[in-house]
Amino acid sequence: MAIAFLKKLSHFVPTRDVKWLLHQHLNEKELHRGVFHVHASEATKEGFCPRFYALMDVTGAKLPSQWVNTSEQVTFHIGRVLQDAVVHWFADMGRAVGHWRCLGCAKLQEFQKRPDKCPHCGCRGWKPEEVRVLSAKSGISGGIDMLAEVGNPLLRVVEIKTMDKDLFKGLAAPLAEHRQRTALYLQLIAESQSPWAKRIDKARADILYVSKGGYGVQDPELKSWGMAESFSPFKRYTVGAKDADNAEICRVAGIVKRFRDGEVGMPAGICSTALDKRAKACPTCKACFSGDYPGVHAWLPD
Ligand SMILES: [Zn+2]
Repeated sequence: MAIAFLKKLSHFVPTRDVKWLLHQHLNEKELHRGVFHVHASEATKEGFCPRFYALMDVTGAKLPSQWVNTSEQVTFHIGRVLQDAVVHWFADMGRAVGHWRCLGCAKLQEFQKRPDKCPHCGCRGWKPEEVRVLSAKSGISGGIDMLAEVGNPLLRVVEIKTMDKDLFKGLAAPLAEHRQRTALYLQLIAESQSPWAKRIDKARADILYVSKGGYGVQDPELKSWGMAESFSPFKRYTVGAKDADNAEICRVAGIVKRFRDGEVGMPAGICSTALDKRAKACPTCKACFSGDYPGVHAWLPD
């Protein structure tokens, strides 16, 4: 009965339908980006567990790929295209400094204004790539969306956040997670040993929200600038290095670095039993509760 049903179903797979073709093409597995670095986006997540990273190191376990559905792919793509457009607009003004991937030969030109043409293949097309910074203290790594020359001696960090037009309209202040992450980036830059860090302003950064609808809100700031426009698709908030307290995040993420540097032993975990909801979803759950890797470094606050 079931086989007959499946046969019948496969008979109706609409292989000549453009909508079906798109879903077939976009719904795919994406490789996990790995655990070589502790990314700022992971470190700022609720329930960050240094033991997970340590267990990944000692067991050499592979992380499962994750399914990305069609709607996520399209949403991500719209955001990415719009973010790249903002960087290119600043590059058109001669103000964006960063990494640029040649669309012809895929070679990367690092930390500079957008080149005119590729020194390797002569191509004039570029894709901006985020500049990654790594804290030598906490080991947290973060990718900066854009660095802009705004007229100050140092480059301004700009976090670009594209936002659904209805959410954008109601936005009155930067989201707490964005403020926290942006302040963390400033700290990572201050703790970075990269020669580029010297050229970046570590005291303040801008969060630039961009409406995904084109039209944003009626914005009186434009009138005060003497502009004839009344709507803006942009909202800009400036965040200071001390606008969020990231000390605990850096301490906990820093345990991964200290474990890798041999300063501390295997960290304790945060799940009480292998049946915790969090544990059941964790790729290292089996190793964690196997008894083979006792947690000798207690780090959770009492
Ligand atoms: Zn090239």
